[in-house]
Amino acid sequence: MSSKGVKIGIMGGTFDPVHYGHLVTAEGARCEFGLDQVLFMPSGIPPHKTKKRVSSPEHRYMMTVLATLTNPHFEVSRIDIDREGISYTIDTLLILREQYGPTAELYFITGADAIFEIMNWKDADKLLKIAHFIAATRPGFSLEELPVKTQQWVDEHQDRFHVLKVPAMAISSTDIRERVRNGHSIRYLVPEPVDHYILRHGLYQD
Ligand code: NAP
Repeated sequence: MSSKGVKIGIMGGTFDPVHYGHLVTAEGARCEFGLDQVLFMPSGIPPHKTKKRVSSPEHRYMMTVLATLTNPHFEVSRIDIDREGISYTIDTLLILREQYGPTAELYFITGADAIFEIMNWKDADKLLKIAHFIAATRPGFSLEELPVKTQQWVDEHQDRFHVLKVPAMAISSTDIRERVRNGHSIRYLVPEPVDHYILRHGLYQD
């Protein structure tokens, strides 16, 4: 498929579970960067979480589908969860480049903590040739908070890095899992169908 000039956002994340912070980030990026579509991409086995306990890809995929249903610009992709092995972003972006063609502009969106580690990701330099990177961060964050080496690297590639300030980034999946474990409400932190799904499947109860 060749998609001339089309702008695609890719929301990469574990989404365990997906929450309103993610949805506000995706919509914010769509509006600010004029994206035609945002593809939510739940990771299969996240590269840095091979030893951590993460909910099954199918649960994370289903919750992401439920959360994004009402936005016609959002879609959920199974590319990472259907692929064997660890979800390296380079492999995901190469597949998408092939699917959308050479003229499509790809914007990979994820949390700033993750994106500013990108120097250590597989094929880091190649990644920057394929896509732009949007680092979602809390308001008040400044690039000065980054370690000097990372800061220099980001500066050298500033045309490929963008910072998006998202007030709702105070919501976190870790906090939601803990609330569920402690029997506290997660209402208004996740879309209602996601809340029901978590309850129904007894997720995060251990
Ligand atoms: P993470 O370490 O779980 O998350 C880091 C921070 O970013 C957390 O505060 C997290 O909040 C937030 N976050 C995660 N995804 C987000 C999103 N789409 N929008 C806004 N905030 C987000 O990161 P991760 O989810 O495992 O990884 C993020 C993406 O980077 C994934 O697609 C992963 O495959 C990719 N990645 C690739 C490599 C590589 O290729 N070598 C290495 C690391 C990560 P919540 O916990 O609330 O989500």
